[in-house]
Amino acid sequence: MADEEKQKYEAFQTPKGVHDILPVVHEFHTFVKKVVRHRARQSGYRRISTPIFEYTEVFKRSIGDSSDIVSKEMYTFKDRKGRSLTLKPEGTAGVARSYIEKGMNQLPQPVLLYYFEPHFRYDRPQKGRYRQFWQFGFEVIGESDPALDAQVIQLADRINEDLGIKDILSLQLNTIGSSESRQKYMQALQDYYVGKERSLCESCKGRLDTNPLRLLDCKAEDCKILAELAPAMKDYLDKESLDYHEELKSYLDELGITYEENPKLVRGLDYYSKTVFEFWDKEEGAQNAIGGGGRYDGLIELMGGQPTPAVGYAAGVERIIANMRRIKIRVPSKDSLHVFVAQLGKEAKKKCLPLIKNLHDAGLKTMGALGKGSINVQLRLAHKFGAPYTVLIGITEVREGTAIIRDMEKGQQETVSMENVVYRLVELIGKDNLDRYSPGELLYS
Ligand code: AMP
Repeated sequence: MADEEKQKYEAFQTPKGVHDILPVVHEFHTFVKKVVRHRARQSGYRRISTPIFEYTEVFKRSIGDSSDIVSKEMYTFKDRKGRSLTLKPEGTAGVARSYIEKGMNQLPQPVLLYYFEPHFRYDRPQKGRYRQFWQFGFEVIGESDPALDAQVIQLADRINEDLGIKDILSLQLNTIGSSESRQKYMQALQDYYVGKERSLCESCKGRLDTNPLRLLDCKAEDCKILAELAPAMKDYLDKESLDYHEELKSYLDELGITYEENPKLVRGLDYYSKTVFEFWDKEEGAQNAIGGGGRYDGLIELMGGQPTPAVGYAAGVERIIANMRRIKIRVPSKDSLHVFVAQLGKEAKKKCLPLIKNLHDAGLKTMGALGKGSINVQLRLAHKFGAPYTVLIGITEVREGTAIIRDMEKGQQETVSMENVVYRLVELIGKDNLDRYSPGELLYS
């Protein structure tokens, strides 16, 4: 085909609001995941993954029709049989569905679960707000005690500390009481806003009937002013919830965890009761919360299970990483190569392939230039890949059963016998620097 006849294809881009996680960012992802896994295991949590999509009702019933998530942020579609499915916008609903479906109430309680998963929300894309984002989270299902809430907060706090971001965050804490007392408070709020509707932003006008609590944390100026003067939640809460909250605070004090009491914090999801908390960026406040959670004692029953209390926390991985990078935190890179293998000719290549395998087995991160370029081209490549040592095998080396090891920084070379290449490189790299991760022994029953 002549050039001019060739069709010019347009290159693709990612859909709006989603992004690739490129290798540099993956190093952070891996680090965060390891910290989460370590801290979770240490406290007896076990990992769960629920499906990427569930029946839409799972989210509608749990998160609530009036929430932002259900009313405007879900990716909902019909399958070929016309069933309505939704990509999971958050983690707790699926875990609660699984707890009930898999009879986890038969396990010793509380059941401690953690997840690290992608989630999907049709949010307006902006800094820290994407349409696919990763969250990790913890759920403690089956028992109610302020000491458990304190432990979940402590776990989140430990993870923030491990990730180096604890000092830039503030812990916001509130109680929203039992569902009955909250009903009374919501009625009081609706009464308070009668005659003031015109000053509210469009979203709040809509929420007034369905979800008046959300008017308290609206960011619009006029809404904020009205919220300041609104009746205070604590005047409507039941004594049990208030006592519960005092006890929680005494445990946090005991653990040395500082918090700011925030009577306007309500969280966007319907299923919370009593404790709610969020970790805010000290500079940006609520705009860029990195994580939040609370107690959700009514959820399991609402989802069709026995009445079962629970408490949980979820954090956004992208926002955590953005904060880590903003304050110039670096994470250990495990991706750098130890050895680059260059060769000349087919016979040399035959020697290279088993050598590379043996280097891998010895714990040396090795890649080979297995193309047809000259030795000089391959050496330039070796430089670009940044390996500290290159092994060179040419026609002479094949004939003599040797290989050249080149120190790329010093530019010095030594010739060693083929049998000694692995041994010598291990010596040069140092036993402590090898990549000898083992997934563990397989057991056969
Ligand atoms: P939420 O349960 O909605 O408070 O979400 C918990 C955490 O997930 C938030 O604090 C954010 O860190 C993160 N998150 C929520 N929505 C998004 C989004 N659209 N893009 C990125 N991160 C998000």
